[in-house]
Amino acid sequence: MSGIGRPHGLSMQDFFSRYGTEDQCREALFAKRWPNGFVCPKCAGSTYYIRPPKQFMCASCRHITSLTAGTVMHH
Ligand SMILES: [Zn+2]
Repeated sequence: MSGIGRPHGLSMQDFFSRYGTEDQCREALFAKRWPNGFVCPKCAGSTYYIRPPKQFMCASCRHITSLTAGTVMHH
């Protein structure tokens, strides 16, 4: 096998730990923003679609909300 010891940009472990962190972060932001569930900032509707990776679209008025809009993500 060649290539052993060659540095990789991102190992599988890194990938999964990053993805996990990102996902947990999204859930934490969601819970902080909508502790009682999603509420549309425009029409107060509670039904939404998830638009990956971090957006939510209101099912009533189709207003799109981003969890990270106006916030600073720092890890
Ligand atoms: Zn709405």
